Amino acid sequence: MKTIRDLDLTVMTGLMDELGEKPFRARQLFEWVHARGTASFDEMSNLSKALRRELSERFIIDPLRLLKKQESADGSTKKYLFELPDGETVESVWMRYRHGDSICVSSQVGCRMGCTFCASTLNGRVRDLTPGEIISQIYDIERDVYRDTDGSNSAGHISGVIIMGMGEPFDNYDNVIAFVRLLTDSKGRNMSARSITISTCGIPDGIIRLAEEGLPVTLALSLHAPNDGLRQAIMPIAKKYPLKDVLSACEYFFKKTGRRVTFEYSLMKGVNDSDAAAVELSELCMRLQKKGMPVHVNLIPLNEVAERKLTRSREEIILGFKRILENNRINVTVRREMGHEIDAACGQLRHKHTGDTFSG
Ligand code: SAH
Repeated sequence: MKTIRDLDLTVMTGLMDELGEKPFRARQLFEWVHARGTASFDEMSNLSKALRRELSERFIIDPLRLLKKQESADGSTKKYLFELPDGETVESVWMRYRHGDSICVSSQVGCRMGCTFCASTLNGRVRDLTPGEIISQIYDIERDVYRDTDGSNSAGHISGVIIMGMGEPFDNYDNVIAFVRLLTDSKGRNMSARSITISTCGIPDGIIRLAEEGLPVTLALSLHAPNDGLRQAIMPIAKKYPLKDVLSACEYFFKKTGRRVTFEYSLMKGVNDSDAAAVELSELCMRLQKKGMPVHVNLIPLNEVAERKLTRSREEIILGFKRILENNRINVTVRREMGHEIDAACGQLRHKHTGDTFSG
């Protein structure tokens, strides 16, 4: 059965028409589902009992079932493993920052991009997530984290959403955009598009299409290397899309939206963490800045994945790398260590779970 959380207001209006109901019923339903994050048709008190029954015979509300939850010792990170109706699993992470809380969601079960350092891609892509399956990760985590203070979602407890869990968002473009539109709908959850970050391994067509959506979301590019040779060695997708094309798509995104692009750079010992790489990365950023495009580099200490041979760069190497960028006046931060003690690197929790199942 389909989840009602997949439906936007236009589709809900069509549904009400089909059921012989007035159009305003669609708005009421949309509010229950998306403004309040209601998980039961019984709670929809302004809809008739007959309509609630009809809806419950056609749809489920929540497609996720919580399988496992892990919390960091300091309480700042919570990782969730959810089961989907077909038995597949996805993971999501809640993080508390000084400037607000955010949730990292998955967009696919598995991933087929093949990055050599990432756990999500170990068994390839299984399937795409629907908009309702992506948005449910947010509604369910909010319900879990904030239920003591307020059972509904209308207070807007989180201040950011990042599409940086499992999957490549532009390999599931339509569903990801439908998800963003549901989340930002003023009659529903009403989240600001500016608080949503989409992270991509670098698919130029997807970046260009996104630039044309008229959605002021934040774009993050997983760069990880300052040149094609090195990038191809760790990211197979780079063989298909040279940096030149990826970066000009990013420039186009900036021109269209005025939004600064973030470059993610995960530091791997002996692979992409040399001084020469830092200099080359600085030059790449300076070239773009000269053309009027501001960039921000986010250095990520590698989360080591047992099945991968790659290891994390040493602390002093990370700081040295950062200093070279700073000396070149590049805007740079090192991502705060989030949840590596609880397997929060993309796909690790799910991979462990599937592995457990296989080994009985
Ligand atoms: N497919 C999207 C989103 C996925 S992951 C993308 O490629 O951007 C979010 C970020 O974490 C990406 O920059 C990804 O390259 C990075 N990442 C994946 N596995 C990692 C690991 N083990 N350690 C550090 N960063 C990792």
